[in-house]
Amino acid sequence: MLLGVHCSISGGYENAFAEAQALGINTFQIFTKNQRQWREKAVSEEEGRVFRANLKKYVIEKAFSHSTYLINIGSFDETIRRNSILALSAEVQRCEAMGLAFTVLHSGSYKGGDEAGGIENIAAALNLILEETKHMRAGILLENTAGQGSSIGWKFEHLAAIMDKVSSPRLGMCFDTCHAFAAGYDIRTQTGFEDTLEKIERLMGLEKLRAFHLNDSKGELGSRIDRHDHIGAGKLGLEAFAYVINHFKKVPKVLETPKENNMDVKNLAVLAGLMQP
Ligand code: MN
Ligand code: MN
Ligand code: ZN
Repeated sequence: MLLGVHCSISGGYENAFAEAQALGINTFQIFTKNQRQWREKAVSEEEGRVFRANLKKYVIEKAFSHSTYLINIGSFDETIRRNSILALSAEVQRCEAMGLAFTVLHSGSYKGGDEAGGIENIAAALNLILEETKHMRAGILLENTAGQGSSIGWKFEHLAAIMDKVSSPRLGMCFDTCHAFAAGYDIRTQTGFEDTLEKIERLMGLEKLRAFHLNDSKGELGSRIDRHDHIGAGKLGLEAFAYVINHFKKVPKVLETPKENNMDVKNLAVLAGLMQP
């Protein structure tokens, strides 16, 4: 079972490992740099070596990053788009240096243009970055979003349209349970979840589904509101999580729920309680 949380790197990368060890998890997501700044961080050879050694030492089977929130490779603003491409390329290079399997990315938004054009922008940027880093293993996972404003990626059709234009095995998808529900996919029951997965299978193939963000939702079905709740405390309910836990054992699954009051421990315990033998 690959189950973990988003770990904090405040104070240094080693803190992610301390947190993982305290929680007893075998997978995690991190930011490789300040997620709200453009300023880049290069990972030295030594830093990369230490990080990769720690993955082994702490028995982290799969670790990955979440890209900076500022990145919008769908943008119609030339400066934003250029900065976004540079930032995403640098992120992939950090992932490679640190032994991170992939970076999770919000596809972007089409502000100032239209949806089809935004999808073109995203695909062109991904092709550029994947070509530039073609000798690397680190990949990019497009995360489904809740669907606020002019964001792209809340419909699986958006992600499939991007993937149709980018034929790289290094491109996949990260499924956020809160976002899917907020976007209108009713995954509260096993049948509902299976219908949703069938859609993904038909549109892009289930092998593209390479990570899960396990978050309950404060918002209602189709609310397009991105507010994470603790597992079982929100509008999603436990059946959805039981389904993922028992059907995607080998796919890394991480919590992105508020950490205060030791809640990672509690949420992980709730999830562990849903495991069938
Ligand atoms: Mn995200
Ligand atoms: Mn997420
Ligand atoms: Zn979210």
